[in-house]
Amino acid sequence: ATSAATTDEPIQPAVEIKHTQLLINGNFVDAASLKTFPTVDPRTGEVIARVAEGDVEDIDRAVSAARRAFDHGPWPRMTAYERCRVLLRFADLIEEHAGEIAALETWDNGKTLAQSVGAEVPMVARCMRYYAGWADKIHGLVVPADGAHHVQVLHEPVGVAGQIIPWNFPLLMFAWKVGPALACGNTVVLKTAEQTPLSALYVASLLHEAGLPEGVLNVVSGFGPTAGAALCSHMGVDKLAFTGSTGTGQIVLELAARSNLKPVTLELGGKSPFIVMDDADVDQAVELAHHAVFFNQGQCCCAGSRTFVHERVYDEFVEKSKARATKRVVGDPFRDGVEQGPQIDEEQFKKILRYVQSGVDSGATLVAGGDRAGNRGFYIQPTVFADAKDEMKIAREEIFGPVQTILKFSGMEEVIRWANATHYGLAAGVFTSSLDAANTLSRALRVGTVWVNCYDVFDAGIPFGGYKMSGVGREKGIYALRNYLQTKAVVTPIRDAAW
Ligand code: NAD
Repeated sequence: ATSAATTDEPIQPAVEIKHTQLLINGNFVDAASLKTFPTVDPRTGEVIARVAEGDVEDIDRAVSAARRAFDHGPWPRMTAYERCRVLLRFADLIEEHAGEIAALETWDNGKTLAQSVGAEVPMVARCMRYYAGWADKIHGLVVPADGAHHVQVLHEPVGVAGQIIPWNFPLLMFAWKVGPALACGNTVVLKTAEQTPLSALYVASLLHEAGLPEGVLNVVSGFGPTAGAALCSHMGVDKLAFTGSTGTGQIVLELAARSNLKPVTLELGGKSPFIVMDDADVDQAVELAHHAVFFNQGQCCCAGSRTFVHERVYDEFVEKSKARATKRVVGDPFRDGVEQGPQIDEEQFKKILRYVQSGVDSGATLVAGGDRAGNRGFYIQPTVFADAKDEMKIAREEIFGPVQTILKFSGMEEVIRWANATHYGLAAGVFTSSLDAANTLSRALRVGTVWVNCYDVFDAGIPFGGYKMSGVGREKGIYALRNYLQTKAVVTPIRDAAW
């Protein structure tokens, strides 16, 4: 089943591409340079559409619009309840247009339509409603200060937020960034990933239909070193939020520091351990570990890409993981029953195949996959390596593809040491029926999320982010609000001596 569907004629997506220009100050406009760039269908490598290519001048126009909308516009001044209602209407519109939005996402990204329809679009609506609910519940406080002073602490919006998102979950990353920023009364300039510009432009138009004032959300398509860097360096931007690779995160932080010291939150890469203890139900563990690494074509920052398996269940686990990966259905993501679509682009496709080669060269045992699937587009066979060693590149570096790396361990202390022996610290999975093992591991692992007997649970209220080089700060939940609020102390004397 694995590669048959990849050679069929691609299914024509049921959606019309309406927006390919930049969204600045409430209008869709060409780039100042009039340049465009192609966005590509990863099933075939063919161009879907040409999109306006934003650069320094466009970022400057977008920041000016966001600045005006913040300094003089209604958005930070309207009641919090009115902001709440705009976001709620937006969530309704997302659901009304769910079919088109999902099709656009699958076309541009290659993820399965089932995932876009069943998970991504509903999660975007849910995230927007979650933050809509916060809009009128952001309270300051009163401090019982020494002396006769009335001291209030106000939580005010930061101002213009610059946001840069990646291509692996274009819509969900839009929601995680834009939701809390808007709920708190900020204005936004969002730069999408050059691989996936289409869905954000479409939903941004819906946000305006929901009543968002002009200039509050500006969307600039374009490349990282040009448009992205200009946003990071801009003196008119008050806060930056970035999701992408660790190397780019370092550049973003440096650009922010060298310009106006704008605060930065970073959501970066990972090499997350998935630990299977010897008391685990092996069939369930295999299924969950498979999902943890292969979900979204393996293109997840929190992919459980180091599968640590206790020696007592190791052989059975490897055999069953091989069978599961071999059974995984790869094909046109628009086709029913397909579990895995193509990788995002040729660059990632080639990079993943280089990692597979490095796994073979370094002596790991290739038990499944290991090559491209089909003969066109960017499909890769679900690949499993067993007998991996911790020092191998495939066990240390983020592959960002459908490659499972299985390592054997013999005891709790050893697996804790190995799991933590990385610069990353985004997430971990623990599979065990022992409460003690679950408690010990969840406390010992230096990561931002521990999923016990589950994986990839992304409720809007759960904070998400990394320890170590996996990031700075947290998104989602109440924690994301802190990223978009300033704290102001207001002190007034209490003069009436009669009190
Ligand atoms: P990237 O970090 O280069 O791109 C992410 C975003 O940053 C994009 O919008 C890009 O245009 C922008 N960007 C790139 N260079 C920039 C710069 N100098 N200044 C400002 N913005 C810039 O990631 P990528 O090249 O798309 O993917 C490379 C690797 O990143 C992947 O193989 C994977 O390991 C990792 N990645 C991680 C995540 C995640 O969610 N943590 C997402 C995508 C990719």
